[in-house]
Amino acid sequence: MRRVPLLLILLLLSRAAFAHNPQVSTISIIQHQDKKWSVFVTAPLYTCQLAIAANFPKSKTDSLDVYATQNMISALVKNNLIINGDKNIKLTNTKIQVAHETTIYFDIDDTIKITEVDFKAFSKLSDHFTLLKLVPQKSIETSYILNSDNGYIYTANKNVSKFGFYKLNKYFEIVSGIGARYTLIAGAAFLFFYVLFKRKLFYKKIQGVNAKNSDFIREFLYSITTILIFGLIIINVMGNPNIRAYTKIYDEINERGWLYYFAAFPVMIMIHDTYFYWTHRLMHHKKLFNLFHLVHHKSTNPSPWAAYAFHPLEAIVENGIFLVFAFSFPLHKSHIPIFFLLSIIYNIYGHLGWELYPKGFNKTLIGKWVNTSVCHNQHHKYFKGNYGLYFLFWDRTMGTLRDDYDLAFEEVKNR
Ligand SMILES: [Zn+2]
Ligand SMILES: [Zn+2]
Repeated sequence: MRRVPLLLILLLLSRAAFAHNPQVSTISIIQHQDKKWSVFVTAPLYTCQLAIAANFPKSKTDSLDVYATQNMISALVKNNLIINGDKNIKLTNTKIQVAHETTIYFDIDDTIKITEVDFKAFSKLSDHFTLLKLVPQKSIETSYILNSDNGYIYTANKNVSKFGFYKLNKYFEIVSGIGARYTLIAGAAFLFFYVLFKRKLFYKKIQGVNAKNSDFIREFLYSITTILIFGLIIINVMGNPNIRAYTKIYDEINERGWLYYFAAFPVMIMIHDTYFYWTHRLMHHKKLFNLFHLVHHKSTNPSPWAAYAFHPLEAIVENGIFLVFAFSFPLHKSHIPIFFLLSIIYNIYGHLGWELYPKGFNKTLIGKWVNTSVCHNQHHKYFKGNYGLYFLFWDRTMGTLRDDYDLAFEEVKNR
């Protein structure tokens, strides 16, 4: 019986590890000393074949010879490159090398200042990013992802001259999103249980004693630094085209369909549960505990505010799950914020101080495998055992579920 969850998780992890890689093509437009430009497009051969099939539906890709393939790819690239809105710009000296990584090269016979690049050669492909690199002689290099969000067009003034601001704006957007979710949900729980119905519900409080106001303040302040750190990691991945292009995050839901979209959530929860359990146990190692995890354990009688109360180093570890998601298997860009919303709700419930599941839940077929507020409360009270986040699969499999868990759950629910 214990082997079942273990096998299930191994299966899910291997599915994630062997998921299809996104294809990345690069278009580099580089200016020479004489102010003229050259264009280098590099794309995996597989991408070129897919692009030929998508753009020339009548051709039979299998029976094309190298010469025909070369012609089609260079035509595809040249016909789909519009610079400064001018379709008739002269492209000369075409060279193409068809290989595992195919390269197409040509010159632009002009000394223009490039302000707009429209490049749709690979736009019909799913799981694909086109990374634009614009390297002018006298100003800094620009990296930019061409995708459906920007219509595969880069416009200098619109997007990049304000890139510093854009990044700062985006950072505040991310941080305020995570911050609002945390503050609203923890605040609502706190208002309900710790203010409005405190007296009426006190007899049901798991530990039967109040935490101090200074505890709530400490929990809140550490949570704010955690959120600022989460934002910093996320913006450095999502806001940097050179890194963003290598994530597996996709932009259009119909690239993979709705079934995939909904099926990804349970997989994400399983992976996060595994990630959390093992990093949590690692941080309980005596050499790491004081530095990484002691801050979280200052809450021996936790409140909803404790959900993100981590030392900055632990905040980095906790946000590691974002990196796992971004790089290990294809997720739509909305998967991650929705997932973090579900996650913070469960996390706040885990630190609530009151048990919301009904009496007897711990003994039901499902309840045996689900982490509860009593269970995580015991972890905060005793420091040992009950390391899980959403489930008890790992605690039960690894024998780290506390022996007195069922007793504690029943005691709280029998009051
Ligand atoms: Zn712990
Ligand atoms: Zn905790």
